[in-house]
Amino acid sequence: MSATDRRIVIVGDSIAGCTAARELRARGHRGSIVMIGADADGCYARPPLSKHMLKGEAAEAETWDMADLDLTSIVDPAVSLDAETRTVTTADGTAVPYDALIVASGASARRIAAPDQAGETVLRTFADVRALRPTLDEASTAIVVGAGFLGMEVASACVARGTAVTVVDVDPPLQRLLGSFLSDAIVARAEAASVEFVRADTPVALVGDPVTGIEFADRTLTADLVVTCAGDEPQTGWLDSTGIADRIGVGIDYRCATDIPGIYAAGDVAYSRTASRRAPFWSNAVAQGKVAAASALGIEPTCAPTDDYFWTEILGLSIKVVGPLPLQGDPTVLEGSVDDGSALLQWTHQDGRTTIVAFGIKKPVGLLRRLARENTLSTT
Ligand SMILES: Cc1cc2nc3c(=O)[nH]c(=O)nc-3n(C[C@H](O)[C@H](O)[C@H](O)COP(=O)(O)OP(=O)(O)OC[C@H]3O[C@@H](n4cnc5c(N)ncnc54)[C@H](O)[C@@H]3O)c2cc1C
Repeated sequence: MSATDRRIVIVGDSIAGCTAARELRARGHRGSIVMIGADADGCYARPPLSKHMLKGEAAEAETWDMADLDLTSIVDPAVSLDAETRTVTTADGTAVPYDALIVASGASARRIAAPDQAGETVLRTFADVRALRPTLDEASTAIVVGAGFLGMEVASACVARGTAVTVVDVDPPLQRLLGSFLSDAIVARAEAASVEFVRADTPVALVGDPVTGIEFADRTLTADLVVTCAGDEPQTGWLDSTGIADRIGVGIDYRCATDIPGIYAAGDVAYSRTASRRAPFWSNAVAQGKVAAASALGIEPTCAPTDDYFWTEILGLSIKVVGPLPLQGDPTVLEGSVDDGSALLQWTHQDGRTTIVAFGIKKPVGLLRRLARENTLSTT
């Protein structure tokens, strides 16, 4: 069989899966592509969900039209994989055979409610946003559990809508990845916008059934709305019988190949075996989607299997980061001032690599990439 005649199945129809499908066609695959999804809303971008959509600036999700790719789309979750017979089975019992499989089933929101506790609110899907928006319209007070990127974006939406918001975490906001320097700058900005931070000294539990608040140590806090932003978990349940996934996700090599021949993985579900952790960001999912597609065709990829660019928007401030994380210590200020909310910053890591951060300053991503690359080369 020629490589271009292979039947390729992609499980997951979000950015990693859709990028893989587009790359398969772009690299000359003329055989069949079957894309299996689980979300009735189809293929759409997640980053706007917690930004424009939650603030009420956009009503509909940004969807992608895949009609030009001549693929077979199945909207019915994959429930099992038989790697011996090379077959994926979906919930209604449909058996989908493949020659190569790309696992792009992403991640789901990590939940902290007790098993029988109702009313936990999370933000991962368009359906979550639809459910959350009317509650946010009514709420005067909100608690956000988790001060990571998502938690801070949800808190920003609360501020934009005039809802008093308290953010609760065991760590200072974003400190684990962005370090104390940027965490402090973000806290100062958030507190100026009346966001209250509460540091929990024990993990937070939800109280009420349905949920009305949180508790930790000897404290209980209540609010009209409680949103859990406590990270995400790789969607690997359908792979359980294969041994291909572990606690972290699906381990991959530099070709996005898993341990099982003919199976590749990309995006939030996957982790690089050399790093032993997932990098659940948009650009990484795009890069891995392209590499997994090329590898499924047995040809050279056109890009690296990682892309360390990501962005977020916190309290009207755009933050773009290119380079390795976490950040430690203070940066070199290349331009502007953090206090003024407009600065170009550089961190040089011990191994000579560089991270560039555009903190509220308008800079094209290409420039940030070039600075990170050039400054790294000059220090090694
Ligand atoms: C609200 C929000 C805001 C974000 N903002 C940013 C940002 O500003 N910048 C940034 O860099 N990143 C951001 N991210 C992260 C980014 O969106 C993810 O890294 C990206 O969506 C990962 O894409 P993916 O295709 O790997 O997985 P996912 O987007 O998780 O998609 C996986 C798809 O697989 C489907 N699926 C799961 N299980 C099955 C199954 N068994 N069978 C069939 N289909 C299945 C799911 O329904 C889903 O559609 C944000 C994420 C969220 C949730």
